[in-house]
Amino acid sequence: MSGNYKKLEQLYEGKAKKVFKTDRDNVYIVEYKDDATAGNGAKKGIIAGKGVINNRITNYLMRLLETDGIPTHFIEELSDTETAVRRLAIVPLEVIVRNIAAGSLAVRLGLAEGTKLRSTVLEYCYKDDALGDPLVNEYHIIAMGWASAAELKTISNYAFTINRLLSKHLESAGIELIDFKLEFGRTDDGEIILADEISPDTCRFWDVKTREKLDKDLFRRDLGGVEAAYREVMERLLGRGYRGDRAAAQ
Ligand code: UDP
Repeated sequence: MSGNYKKLEQLYEGKAKKVFKTDRDNVYIVEYKDDATAGNGAKKGIIAGKGVINNRITNYLMRLLETDGIPTHFIEELSDTETAVRRLAIVPLEVIVRNIAAGSLAVRLGLAEGTKLRSTVLEYCYKDDALGDPLVNEYHIIAMGWASAAELKTISNYAFTINRLLSKHLESAGIELIDFKLEFGRTDDGEIILADEISPDTCRFWDVKTREKLDKDLFRRDLGGVEAAYREVMERLLGRGYRGDRAAAQ
């Protein structure tokens, strides 16, 4: 039933989302914002309509992944910008999957952006704004106790499977999945499940034919057309004229 959760106090405000407690112990509400940041907060702005679009795209992709056997925190879309999710202890890692060299990888290894990688690359960054989310490897993660070896195996298996599923689905919408960032969390039972968002904020999406950018790089690099690109991704995935889950259900 829609809206069956009472929104209680705000627990946390991040760069792109707020998280609220609810009257159910194991359910949180995330609220997507239009605020955008880049370069670890150095650049700030607003992408009009982003909250609605990222909420819808994330929920659409989370449901798609659930159907294909990936456990996620998604429970129910509650409004244009709000979604009920399972309460988790977040594993403090950004799990980055790359098919094509771009962004920080292109800079780090001196590759031309757009260079196809011979095989998929998995990277981990430790989530810590003060440290600038440093790149870490499995040894750091286990030594620091951020995740166990068994949990990392589960996380990496999910990350590669998610890459295959998303790449295929996006390709059918004319979108090439260049790279993306995932976050995982632990349930009370110690199960690892997919959390956070999957949106043009957290993925690089290029048009298959023209290779034009359809993601946050338009904002990061002041290229213009950000709002239109986010809307384009939503419409290619959810259909033109899509008005939201609840509108469709009514
Ligand atoms: N990414 C993200 N949040 C971050 C850093 C990266 O969602 O804090 C995503 C980013 O959108 C891209 C992928 O992870 O799809 C790889 O990003 P990269 O390491 O190239 O960093 P960037 O160039 O964005 O600084």
